[in-house]
Formats: sequence, structure tokens, C-alpha cells
Amino acid sequence: MSAAVQASPLNRLSANLEALGLDAVAPMVPDYVRLVADGERDLVTAMLEMTEAQLATKLRADDERRIRMANFPFVKTLADFDWSFQPSVPRGAVEELATLAFLERGDNAIFVGSPGVGKTHLSVAIGYEAVMAHRQVYFADCAKLVRDLKSADDKGTLDRRWRFFEHCSLLIVDELGYLGIDKQGADLLFQLVNRRYKLARSTIVTTNVGVGRWGDVFGDNVTASAIADRLCHHCTVMRITGRSYRLRDLAASDIDEKEE
Ligand code: ADP
Ligand code: MG
Repeated sequence: MSAAVQASPLNRLSANLEALGLDAVAPMVPDYVRLVADGERDLVTAMLEMTEAQLATKLRADDERRIRMANFPFVKTLADFDWSFQPSVPRGAVEELATLAFLERGDNAIFVGSPGVGKTHLSVAIGYEAVMAHRQVYFADCAKLVRDLKSADDKGTLDRRWRFFEHCSLLIVDELGYLGIDKQGADLLFQLVNRRYKLARSTIVTTNVGVGRWGDVFGDNVTASAIADRLCHHCTVMRITGRSYRLRDLAASDIDEKEE
């Protein structure tokens, strides 16, 4: 006789559950067999509780997959943000963005501030809310985004990239201004922003350079103002002026010495 025929119904049930990918249910079965035998659960309630556990596992895995797809550099939420450390953050405006109403309108947001003040944290936190609301979100470091578009341009596969970026409900462009952008990069970013503008797709930008000085970043005032024009049309601009959270444990005198 084969092993399968010899196996007990309970073992075969476990094997079936594993084969079906019901890996949360499988380990629960022995306990539920006892609960049903002891009359503590009827069969339907037992099945309901086991399938609810499986469903919760599946929903968690779906959330985690969608968070991975969003390409965040880290996952932090508004609950992790210490508002008292950074009083210049317009809390009401950030919380309004977190309601995601801006996505319905295709509005944009720009966080301006020096390093460490929480620009990436806040944009990720808003993006996280959007992911949890089943919106397609993509986080891109600006320099990498430019490299990605240039390489697609050079390979003749830009159309595919445009389709991806046009489909995204929320695009986060992080660290605009940390590195200069050449003519090809600036033209490609303009096309990206313009396509999303026409489709009323929202973008969040974080930058250390005020919008009025983007000409320096793009090395060209005309392209810079064309990009700024579209991004700023329906936009919440938030300037954060506080200290770097990364340097919070240093005394002010330590920071001064570093800068000397
Ligand atoms: P920026 O993008 O402005 O350079 P980040 O958002 O990357 O700064 O912040 C740097 C680090 O400090 C991150 O780990 C972030 O989560 C944390 N951080 C910044 N500001 C706060 C804050 N007010 N409360 C809690 N954590 C913060
Ligand atoms: Mg940052």
C-alpha cells in the first residue's frame, strides 16, 4: 500500500491544506478537531474561525506586497512622526493630504527643507496611506528616476515607462535638487510632469531647493519654470525650517563645531 493510502484522514487533510496554500489553517486543524469533538465549537464556527485566520494572513501579505511595489526606502507613518520636534511642519496640511482627497483632485504637494527635517518621512507616510487605500504608489529618488528615464530613452522603451508613470495614482519624487540635472534629464522630467498634469495624477516632490531656484537644478530657467508651473498649479507647498532629526542628540554647540 502507498504512503498516501496509509496516511490518516487528518494527515491527508493537512497535506491538502498545505498543497492549497492554506498554511494558516493547516496548523489550526488539530486544535479545532478537539474543540469540535468537545462541543466547544460547531463545525461551521470552527471553519469560519480558521478561514478568518487564513484571510487575515492573505490580506497582510497583500499589503506587504503592495508596500514593496511602492519602492519606499523605509516604511514610516504619521503616527511615527514627532510633531513637537518639528513645529514648522503644517500639521493640518499634512493630515489633510493623508486623507487622500488630493488624489481625487490630482493635486500635488512639495516639501521644501534642509536635510533631516522629515521630508522623506512625511511623503512616505502619505504614500503609505495611499497604498493602504489600494492606490498605486511609486516612490523614486529623483536622480535614479532621471537615470531610469534616460536609459529607457536610449533603449527606445520610453513608451512603456510613460504607461507605468501615467498609471500610478501617486508618484513621489524624492530629493530633487541634491544633484544637478542635465538637459536630457530635465526634458524627460518635464515630459513626465506634463503627462501626469494632463491626466490629473498627483505627485509629491521633496527638495532642499525652493521652487524659485529650480533653474539652478535644471541648469535652464525655461524648463525649470515649465516643470514648476505644472507642479504648482494645484499644490500644497510646505516649507520645513527646523533642525535635522538625525542630529537631534547633538547639542547645538556640537553642530556649530561641525560646521566650522
Ligand atoms: P529628509 O528627507 O528631510 O532629509 P527624513 O525624512 O529622511 O529627512 O528624516 C531622517 C530620519 O529622521 C528618518 O529616519 C525619519 O524617519 C526621522 N525623522 C525626521 N523627522 C522626524 C520627526 N519629526 N519625528 C520622528 N522621526 C523623524
Ligand atoms: Mg529625504
